[in-house]
Amino acid sequence: MHICLDIDDTITYAPELFSLLAALADATITVVTFRTDADGARATLAESGVRFDRLITSSDPDCGKRHGQGLAQWKAAVVNHLQPDWFFEDMPEVVALIHPTIKVFMPVDELMRSWVGKAAGA
Ligand SMILES: [Mg+2]
Repeated sequence: MHICLDIDDTITYAPELFSLLAALADATITVVTFRTDADGARATLAESGVRFDRLITSSDPDCGKRHGQGLAQWKAAVVNHLQPDWFFEDMPEVVALIHPTIKVFMPVDELMRSWVGKAAGA
């Protein structure tokens, strides 16, 4: 199994959940983040107790964001290329671009609850 995880407002929203999830023996964990600071991202992952196999930042020398490419488009292109079984991401503009064969899970923080509530007419 291959799992892709976002950091901000995903892992940081429920680090205890993602620590347990990442500990699954057969799971390959790839973290894909808008962040450009790989050392800072690694520190956040260490604080969160999330094991990972690969970290891809938007400044990654091999598959980072290209000039003129939007962040959401960049992340979606990376995840679609990786073709994980599961992808956890909080931003709807990224989620909307993920290939339908990839199962997507989206954390819903207070801001998202308000937005979803308005969209649902609640
Ligand atoms: Mg995020």
